[in-house]
Amino acid sequence: MSFLEIANQYQSFDFAGYFKGVTSQDVAGSLARAGEINRLDAHDLLNLLSPAALAFLEPMAQKARALTLQYFGRTIGLYAPIYISDFCSNHCTYCGFNASTGFKRTTLTLAQIELEAKAIADLGIRHILVLTGEAPAKTPMDYLEDAVSLLTRYFSSVALEVFPMTEEAYARLRRAGADALTVYQEVYEQGLYQAVHPKGPKSDYAFRLLTPERGARAGFRALGIGPLFGLGETRSEAFMAGIHARFLEQEFPDVEISLSLPRMNPVEGGMPLANALDDTGFVQTMLAWRLFMPRLGITVSTRESAQFRDRLIHLGATRFSAGSKTDVGGYTVRNAQTTDCDTTVQFDITDTRTVDQVSQMIRDSGYQPVFKDWEMI
Ligand code: SF4
Repeated sequence: MSFLEIANQYQSFDFAGYFKGVTSQDVAGSLARAGEINRLDAHDLLNLLSPAALAFLEPMAQKARALTLQYFGRTIGLYAPIYISDFCSNHCTYCGFNASTGFKRTTLTLAQIELEAKAIADLGIRHILVLTGEAPAKTPMDYLEDAVSLLTRYFSSVALEVFPMTEEAYARLRRAGADALTVYQEVYEQGLYQAVHPKGPKSDYAFRLLTPERGARAGFRALGIGPLFGLGETRSEAFMAGIHARFLEQEFPDVEISLSLPRMNPVEGGMPLANALDDTGFVQTMLAWRLFMPRLGITVSTRESAQFRDRLIHLGATRFSAGSKTDVGGYTVRNAQTTDCDTTVQFDITDTRTVDQVSQMIRDSGYQPVFKDWEMI
């Protein structure tokens, strides 16, 4: 069975009705059972994500914190993104890189990627996340292989957040040195998925949904998934992402699974936010996911404010990006250009602190910033 079959079963599920019917006793029961791997089932996750669970945030936080310390210790992994191309043939209605947005697009040369890599490595970062839009003609396999291979000279972990590929293509990038794969479904609710991805290869819901499974079969050691909050109804999207992560953990027990909670920024695409996730909802989602999956990695990017990220260290986060630039060539290449550069950012950074400042904050919180916890031999 693939996760597509499970996702299909939930397309007609009455989430609103279920959440409305959850009682304090239901939440207390789920919370009491939390603490062991696979102890909570899908109903427990729904209970912990329900409005009734808002009255339990403090005990949920205490248990989530204890579980995070048990499985991860006092550590926060650090990584940085590197955008190598912003060409894209998709029409995601919420993204500044979409095909109908008019701006001068760039694909970095290998020499430019190396400049960026050096600058990022000089910050102490050893885990890198490589991002592109979806335009295979501009970033063909040979280019991606060369880019990955180059980056392995500077980073011990090279993760990909590029367009969904076949298992064979992923296997090539694995052999080139990439070890991890991130792919966000963005929206699990199919009707809305089609509405916000009207054209381009990304309009294929099933191909995207099954990407993490292809990646795991191709041999990636770590998979990152998640919804883009702001698109679908937040509680049901958080639930679908949670059971997706659980499915992957059970199907591929040797693969590290992590979830992320990117929140849409109102400036992205100028689209009104129908389903904004507020700070309380963000925290509730993180806690529910942690209680549901004690070993789950939870990534929080620089989309979130410095003040908010500082608090999340104690609530289950395990990985932060730091010193991030979300435009192509943002670390060095743009600065080196003499003319006004017409590039655009995919989303605005809110936590603009340097890697040193983020590391110091982690230490001040009693945790250890981890720059390197993996090396491919
Ligand atoms: S979200 Fe990704 S696929 Fe969609 S338009 Fe932006 S860069 Fe392209």
